[in-house]
Amino acid sequence: MFQSIRLALVTSSLVLTGICSSSAAETKPAPSFRALLITGGCCHNYALQTRALTNAVAPLARVEWTIVNEGGSGTRAQIPLYSNTNWAKGYDVVVHNECFADTKDPAYIRSITAAHKAGTPAVVIHCAMHTYRATDIDDWREFLGVTSRRHDHLSNYRVKVTDASHPVVKDMPPEWVTPKDELYVIEKLWPNAKALATSKSEADGRDYAVIWTNQYGPSRVLGTTFGHSDETFRDPVFLGYLARGVLWAAGR
Ligand SMILES: [Zn+2]
Repeated sequence: MFQSIRLALVTSSLVLTGICSSSAAETKPAPSFRALLITGGCCHNYALQTRALTNAVAPLARVEWTIVNEGGSGTRAQIPLYSNTNWAKGYDVVVHNECFADTKDPAYIRSITAAHKAGTPAVVIHCAMHTYRATDIDDWREFLGVTSRRHDHLSNYRVKVTDASHPVVKDMPPEWVTPKDELYVIEKLWPNAKALATSKSEADGRDYAVIWTNQYGPSRVLGTTFGHSDETFRDPVFLGYLARGVLWAAGR
């Protein structure tokens, strides 16, 4: 549940390059692109999650990753990255895996969504959906494609693919059961969002989107609310759709 203090206190920005090992590479070059992963904040093992995600993408594409872990391990931070108005420039996709529920400054939040509205695609994972939960403005929620403010208990959730034709989920088993993870209650699926998979709440019996696409201006967004536990980031099905989601969002 807790990120190590050492990681929490270190502001890091590093570049990793994925190595293509796909057998298909002999006939068709693997896609190549630049990705920015923004991570940190409360409640999760971001070092493990970062390693797992970048390793999962490596067989599919040559990716030059920039990893930014800023803001400590609390629920409120305004990270230095976004003080540069061109923070997303040069990246083909940005992955948001940060967790700052109590940050609520509208100008700060709009400095983030503006980059996506201008054309930078994104992948949004788990606590990104509760980041900026305290704010009154809806810009971040419209960007995500969902409004969520709370989650159900840890459990093994059965995941039903609702659009098997979509490249992000077409190789998923039709019935996948998650490792112990949290089901986020989705209050609203925004008009440009489309569920790719759902899970049923054990609390209220309703089906909630757990994987979805969103169109935010010109930008593709791929979201998933799973990703709480270390076990989830060791699960090949989770890592498979997440990696395909990075490629899909980047248009590859
Ligand atoms: Zn969580």
